[in-house]
Amino acid sequence: LPERQAKPKWLRVKLPTGKKYTELRGLVDKYNLNTICTSGSCPNMGECWGEGTATFMILGNICTRSCGFCGVKTGRPETVDWDEPEKVARSIKIMGIKHAVLTSVDRDDLKDMGSIMWAETVKAVRRMNPETTLETLIPDFQGITKHIDRIIEVAPEVVSHNIETVRRLTREVRIQAKYDKSMEVLNYLKNSGQRRTKSGIMLGLGEKREEVIQTLEDLRKNQVDVVTIGQYLQPSKKHLPVKQFITPDQFAEYEKIGLDLGFRHVESSALVRSSYKAQKHIN
Ligand code: SF4
Ligand code: SF4
Repeated sequence: LPERQAKPKWLRVKLPTGKKYTELRGLVDKYNLNTICTSGSCPNMGECWGEGTATFMILGNICTRSCGFCGVKTGRPETVDWDEPEKVARSIKIMGIKHAVLTSVDRDDLKDMGSIMWAETVKAVRRMNPETTLETLIPDFQGITKHIDRIIEVAPEVVSHNIETVRRLTREVRIQAKYDKSMEVLNYLKNSGQRRTKSGIMLGLGEKREEVIQTLEDLRKNQVDVVTIGQYLQPSKKHLPVKQFITPDQFAEYEKIGLDLGFRHVESSALVRSSYKAQKHIN
């Protein structure tokens, strides 16, 4: 099995460096700021932070769902912290973030599924950081349009929702989510006038090349503008195993196929995460 082998050399991660990175790291530690970049020890921190991009998670740290690939804790979530919008906005200000990605755990326990907190957070970030552009990486809100509308109303530059894997593996990988529901959400966003929509896939979970291409085609059919494609890595032994390490050549082929299908941007390589190079995707 691949995970018993040494990781291929293209997955060996360099420690983040750079003046901007060091400066931000200091601020994050000093003010105890909460970014996904640090909590997930993302390999791209040097690059993203250097460009002024970071990802922030809202609605707590415990998710009501239990996707087989995800390192976030699952269980009964905390009560909602209505100071969270201000806290996130302040973190963005302290770090001088030019482009922020906001994401959340799924809150199937809440009547509004967290959509009000989402909208309040976008508004608070805008108030305190009028120059900062935003991507909201949203849950499916179970496809309920009045929740999705709250996101569209506050007008983030980019709205993303990750399909994560191919149709056949969705039940095993995302458990409570549905492939078609996610595609519908993406289509609804565009039909509601969202200028940029975006999605992401992880590879190495046992999908076949044809299935990846089919997924890219389905995303395009649902008017998605930007796609990210990266290598799945197992967060712990309890998570789904890595079935395959995708080669750089294969990532390059998917990138070409994606561009031919008409995506505006395709980020396709092993260490790509859904917020990698996110600032570029507003254009
Ligand atoms: Fe942070 Fe996302 Fe960049 Fe990783 S890819 S450093 S999580 S913004
Ligand atoms: Fe992780 Fe999102 Fe799945 Fe929750 S819904 S387990 S945060 S991927």
